[in-house]
Amino acid sequence: MAPYSKLSKEKLKNLKSDLEKQFEEIKKKGLHLDMSRGKPSKAQLDIGIGMMDVLTSESDLVSSDGVDCRNYGVLDGISDARKLLADLSEVPERSVIIYGNSSLNVMFDTMSRAMTHGFMGSTPWGRLDHVKFLCPVPGYDRHFAITEFFGIEMINVPLLETGPDMDMVEELVAKDPLIKGIWCVPKYSNPTGISYSDETVRRFARLKPAAKDFRIFWDNAYSIHHLYDDKRVVVLELLNECIKVGNPDIVIKFISTSKVSFPGSGIAALAASRGNLEDARRYMKYQTIGHDKLNQLRHVRYFKDMLGVYEHMRKHAAILRPKFEKVDEVLTKELGGLGIGTWTKPLGGYFISFDSMEGCAKAIVAKAKEAGLVMTDAGATYPYGKDPKDCNIRIAPSFPTVEELEIASKIFVLSVKLVSIEKLLN
Ligand code: PLP
Repeated sequence: MAPYSKLSKEKLKNLKSDLEKQFEEIKKKGLHLDMSRGKPSKAQLDIGIGMMDVLTSESDLVSSDGVDCRNYGVLDGISDARKLLADLSEVPERSVIIYGNSSLNVMFDTMSRAMTHGFMGSTPWGRLDHVKFLCPVPGYDRHFAITEFFGIEMINVPLLETGPDMDMVEELVAKDPLIKGIWCVPKYSNPTGISYSDETVRRFARLKPAAKDFRIFWDNAYSIHHLYDDKRVVVLELLNECIKVGNPDIVIKFISTSKVSFPGSGIAALAASRGNLEDARRYMKYQTIGHDKLNQLRHVRYFKDMLGVYEHMRKHAAILRPKFEKVDEVLTKELGGLGIGTWTKPLGGYFISFDSMEGCAKAIVAKAKEAGLVMTDAGATYPYGKDPKDCNIRIAPSFPTVEELEIASKIFVLSVKLVSIEKLLN
């Protein structure tokens, strides 16, 4: 079919009445579908269920470094867990501290520490009149929520195929000492699925911010979440690049096993330079006498090493891949060539990012809801929930079944078509 913009008003009106009929038919079915949640399906959770059996009352609950995991202590985490999370973070064991069950919690905590105590002897951000943070967009709504919660001004930076627009990042940080950091999801980013190029990573390592306490918040949430075994993306490791160019303290890396083992019951870690880790420990020792070492032990006994983790991730991919492909198949069949939307075809991660015609995203999400399909709120992928072009919609294919996704995608494309025609007619 020709692009909608080339069709006469008459043709568009006819098309619209056809599509409205189809939409009403679907509405009558009273469906309840959800493509808003980036969480693993039950089938994915079932793959790791054996983890519940690796520790029993009969188990030896002493870690290989001699720690009785039932007791208090060991602030950094047991050595075996540190080794595993260090491998996952692609850094040496000495560069890692294990935290609790969520990396988002560690990010919040790190931001909170910067506000109240400052990084490595710098003025706490909370004592400054104004603090700003760079936010590559579209991005992860919870990053933006943390930043907003602390009253930090967010500045949009376009996220390109290669990562954030580095010309803009370099220029902004060099001239404005109030810019204290940037959020990054370097691999299979949420929501566009892009991964940073080597050049982007190297430019981050060489960044020369006016603020000496500037930090790159490097959230590696999807570091091993490949959809295709033969198309795995490799991103240059940033901490090592920073060390090589004499800029070791600029990055703080975050990771967790949330979408590896169980979300909410995984283990999280922070990886950084010695100075940053000492800083984190000085704060953490007031917060806790140690995190959940039994869960650390459970993870280590279950996965053993990175080979165990990779094998497990292949099982996740086998469940996720057909879901991503189903959504792409319906979108391609129904929207291909119409010029009313573009979308990403990620090689990993949890999301597909859809861009509608300008000014249509909110209306599309509302339209889909009429037929019983819940999508992530339009605007959620931008700071303050404000997408300046009102065009980005995050699609999360992980939770529904393939059959549900087929119907959900059809509702979605119908909504896109109807809203786009409305826009073209007005
Ligand atoms: N970071 C990103 C980019 C995410 O997409 C998510 C979850 O969707 C998280 C962090 C949450 O991580 P955790 O479960 O470790 O708190």
